[in-house]
Amino acid sequence: MMKTYPQSPWSLSDLFPSHDSPEMEAAFTELEGKVASFETLCPQLGDEIPADTFLDLLHRQETIYALASRIRSFASLSFSADTQNQAVQTFLGRVDQTMARVNNRLLFFELWWKELDEVHASRLLSVVGDYRYWLEAMRLFKPHTLSEAEEKIVNLKNVTGVRAINQLYSSITNRYVFKVQVDGETKELTRGELMVYARHHDPQLRAAAFQELYRVYGEDGNLLGQMYQTLVRDWHNEQVDLRHFADPISARNLDNDIPDEVVTTLLETCRKNADLFQRYFRLKARWLGVDHLRRYDIYAPVAKSDKRYEFGPAAELVLDSFRHFNPQMADLARRVFEQRHLDSEVRKGKRSGAFCASVMPALTPWVHINYQGHADDVATMAHELGHAIHSMLASSHSLFTFHSSLPLAETASTFGEMMLVDRLLAEESDEAVQRDMLFRQMDDAYATILRQAYFALFERQAHEMVQKGASVDELAKAYVANLAEQFGDALEVSDEFRWEWVSIPHIYHTPFYVYAYTFGQLLVFSLYQQFQVEGDSFKPRYLKILSSGGSASPESILTQAGIDIRSAAFWQGGFNVIRSLVEQLEALPIGKG
Ligand SMILES: [Zn+2]
Repeated sequence: MMKTYPQSPWSLSDLFPSHDSPEMEAAFTELEGKVASFETLCPQLGDEIPADTFLDLLHRQETIYALASRIRSFASLSFSADTQNQAVQTFLGRVDQTMARVNNRLLFFELWWKELDEVHASRLLSVVGDYRYWLEAMRLFKPHTLSEAEEKIVNLKNVTGVRAINQLYSSITNRYVFKVQVDGETKELTRGELMVYARHHDPQLRAAAFQELYRVYGEDGNLLGQMYQTLVRDWHNEQVDLRHFADPISARNLDNDIPDEVVTTLLETCRKNADLFQRYFRLKARWLGVDHLRRYDIYAPVAKSDKRYEFGPAAELVLDSFRHFNPQMADLARRVFEQRHLDSEVRKGKRSGAFCASVMPALTPWVHINYQGHADDVATMAHELGHAIHSMLASSHSLFTFHSSLPLAETASTFGEMMLVDRLLAEESDEAVQRDMLFRQMDDAYATILRQAYFALFERQAHEMVQKGASVDELAKAYVANLAEQFGDALEVSDEFRWEWVSIPHIYHTPFYVYAYTFGQLLVFSLYQQFQVEGDSFKPRYLKILSSGGSASPESILTQAGIDIRSAAFWQGGFNVIRSLVEQLEALPIGKG
């Protein structure tokens, strides 16, 4: 008889007994001692540093960061479990302060390493084993680094330049108050509260929410648009003129360690497949009983099934879908339950949403979910346990190389979710549950793949236009054209959406960041398609990707698994999975549930 797991809070005792325990105080003391002794080694850094001294420095750093990670994770996990606890809040503040100081005190190593010339660096790189990619990644920016004096000036001027503008942007936009009429009563809401109505079943409320959102942003449209122009000009001045990147987007690509051509191919493939989502929107219109979907209705709910999954059986279902793919994966996921690293309860004061925290290679990750028994919640459990499996498979790597990089971070999670969904679709006779799963997959696919790709396409165009002196109105016009291409005639887009771009913080504070979402999600779909075609022979290659963690660049990890991310055909494979989701939805009879 299989053991049934209860829904429960997690235990953090593998980290510390409590925030005010003697063990915690001892850890702070130990951290201080280790950092201080590391600082005394500074004079040993030099071109001719012996390989074993260098290795010793790396080990010491790993120990320091592992201890720091234990302390920091304990604080942030305690806070997630109980956000209203003042003692925990205060402790978290203390930890943040300590960690900022520790980072500053250790910074000298990184600065020295980046400065080191090629000959001496490659001598050392040949002996560092698993630390290699971590060290290589630090040096990626060397060709684009200015002299120390220039870097200092850039840093100094950024404080009152781009960073100040971004701060003003968030000060201005965080003060916005949005008003909507709900049941005859005017409510004053924050953006987060307002956007709840984007998913409301009442079509008028959905429209009102978006109209209000862009009325408010639109009133400041000119101002916010000017801030954007300034940031974009600064980006060009710094990244292209001073640091000699080929294109504005290339600076971000190097950050992700993804070649420029790959990003171009990815975005162009998305563009070619926009019609797939348009087809989905037409289908959704039929489910909502309207002739034509409005932009307001993208996230409109299609009636939810009432089916509930008890926690214990749901956990077994998830573990079983992992086991079906690979027994080792199920064993790893089971460890999260066995060691009580899963907080699945819904409690007052607990952080909403879901995440997985990997503290260090030797420790089973902690998983946070708010399980309420919908089919959605089962999928979320599979998703977060997928993250946990990913880092456990990579646990042979160092602290610095076991975390997968951003473009690969969602691989195991989304893949795990898809295995579960496939299972549910195959075994669940309830059409309403099938429908919920498929809509969830498609809404997520739209939001993470196409929407983000079109933001990136807009950014690319906007950066070019600003360089040629485009006005705010011209940028807004380009944005409307971007939406028209994205939605074709499948969606009715009303005029106020011309201000949507000034409401996207990412394009202000981290230019071109958004395409990483597209990359990650589509990558998983493409892998999934290969799995469907190849069956068992795909599995070892997939496990190799996961067990590589972050020990090499995304391209080299994927190349080793036989995947060519430079080829458009690979990315197209991801869209084939999406096509099949749409076809499955099209095959369901409309109107039940
Ligand atoms: Zn995730």
